[in-house]
Amino acid sequence: MIRLFQVFCKLNFKTLSEKQIFLSTMENFSEEKIPFLKLPCPKCGAKHPIWSYHDSYIRYLISYQNKTIVTDTIDVTRIICSSCNGTHAILPEIIIPFNSYSLLFILSVLKDYFLSNESVVSLCERYQISVSTLYEWKRLFLLHKKLWFGILEDIYHNSLEFLLSIPNTNTSDALYDFFSKNNISFLQGRRKTARLNSS
Ligand SMILES: [Zn+2]
Repeated sequence: MIRLFQVFCKLNFKTLSEKQIFLSTMENFSEEKIPFLKLPCPKCGAKHPIWSYHDSYIRYLISYQNKTIVTDTIDVTRIICSSCNGTHAILPEIIIPFNSYSLLFILSVLKDYFLSNESVVSLCERYQISVSTLYEWKRLFLLHKKLWFGILEDIYHNSLEFLLSIPNTNTSDALYDFFSKNNISFLQGRRKTARLNSS
């Protein structure tokens, strides 16, 4: 997969729905623009392969907008590398690989959880998630927070303050650093699956 980290540095992202953010990011990856992409291949390491459109697949994107849960479907583009024929899904940073819930959705749940003004049961009802999902996200968040700051620094960073500080204009860069250092996306629950034609 190819991850794009370019949304949160744009100040206007807050006025757009997550589907609009996705669509506006993908405007740069339309079929006619793909052969001109200057992206290294994450699979074979070729610095300037020629990319072509391969196919696309539909997936859900669940977001939380204006206190409402919104379930959209999005069309994820996959491109193919001329050098190794590896195919890669293009995923902007609002998407967490293998998770239908958007990054901002999960951050919103966790912010409310750490604010602790609401019972877990009521919070889960409001977001229509199970209690076990909430605790799994909390576990993952605390684990990834350690990776984000480093184990020694982590204890100095309060969970709620950290959550309230993202997203900001540096979040795209920070998410990129997290992804390149750890080879996994922030709040991604499982590593890539062994799909033969995709990575
Ligand atoms: Zn390649």
